[in-house]
Amino acid sequence: MATINPNYDKLAAGYLFPEVARRVGVFAEKHPGAKILRLGIGDTTEPLTPAVVAGLHAGVDRLASRESYTGYGDYEGDPPMREALARIYAQRGVELGLDEIFVSDGAKPDSGNIQSIFAADNVVAVQDPAYPVYVDTNVIAGRAGRFDPVTQQYDRIVYMPCTAQNGFFPELPTQHVDIVYLCSPNNPTGAVATKEQLSGFVRYAREHRAVVIFDAAYSAFIRDDALPRSIYEVEGAKQCAIEINSFSKIAGFTGVRLGWAVVPQALEIEDGGAGKLNQLWRRRQSTFFNGASNVVQAGGMAALSEQGLAECQGLIDYYMRNAAIIRTALEELGLDVYGGDNAPYVWMKAPNGMKSWDFFDKLLTEAHVVGTPGAGFGPSGEGYFRLSSFGHRESIEQAVVSIRENLRL
Ligand code: PLP
Repeated sequence: MATINPNYDKLAAGYLFPEVARRVGVFAEKHPGAKILRLGIGDTTEPLTPAVVAGLHAGVDRLASRESYTGYGDYEGDPPMREALARIYAQRGVELGLDEIFVSDGAKPDSGNIQSIFAADNVVAVQDPAYPVYVDTNVIAGRAGRFDPVTQQYDRIVYMPCTAQNGFFPELPTQHVDIVYLCSPNNPTGAVATKEQLSGFVRYAREHRAVVIFDAAYSAFIRDDALPRSIYEVEGAKQCAIEINSFSKIAGFTGVRLGWAVVPQALEIEDGGAGKLNQLWRRRQSTFFNGASNVVQAGGMAALSEQGLAECQGLIDYYMRNAAIIRTALEELGLDVYGGDNAPYVWMKAPNGMKSWDFFDKLLTEAHVVGTPGAGFGPSGEGYFRLSSFGHRESIEQAVVSIRENLRL
């Protein structure tokens, strides 16, 4: 008789976005005429750029003749793709070998799968609030322990609060942990770690022989040149950090699917010398994954060309202008607003001490605007709210007008 993986039953109720969708559905049914303005899910909305579209077309065309047809590619990604990624890192002073870069179908799969190369008894620390995938995949793997509905925490996960008091970047753990997930620019808070802040975690990880899993999916949104776009800009990080990134937000590939992970050869852990984790990730990918789509990699290569990079920067600038519009409007209403300057997310304190989901309902009913309740990202997100800048400019502008005119503060 087959039995289930019982860890699935330990997942805390419902994934955040289905609950958002359910509440919006109920509202839409009751108010069929209402124009709902969605600033909730962080999904891109602007079309692919011309260079990328041409690259994708060329990728398809190569499959149309015997001479240029290719089937399975390298598990780690096409070499020219990895070379192009290595060049981008080199521009920030980070030298990577091609055998340290693993092209994938996205940062969500990588950030979820990476835990599988670590032992089941490893202690995991997460920023709180955080992108839910880090905790949920460790729950499924049996690393999280029991969920306490009162504290909204798993008893084996170490939660590192990120609040207004610490500028939404966590203090170092006071106990020993083995794996630390960091995300910068952060989803959901929009906070960006400085080099000094990351250095603290690199020092901690090296002392404890821990591994930092650094999710840099929004690195392209950083405008302040002093802020690190990669954890490897910090001395010693190659010895202790894995980095994950994606074409989703850089090039509008949320539906196209392409990402990459960096697992340095220098990375060391307790029971395996340098190179071991790189070898394990290669083994994991070659067992579970057959390489990123060749057509999509052709599109990705085009995105990394000179023309592609310039066009993608245009997309990023567009979303960052949206972020500025949201941020300014909320500030003018006297709300406490964070993020949105080097990140596509604006994070705000719900007014008058309201809880996140109560503010969600209020914003939806009064202004017909959908955002994301901070509590859905972890207990320290309670009382906060996330607005995403990934919409069309018209919706962002309409949402801002509606908030100004209809939200009763
Ligand atoms: N990592 C973070 C922090 C994210 O917010 C997201 C998407 O919202 C992802 C990863 C997912 O990236 P991808 O589309 O490449 O799977």
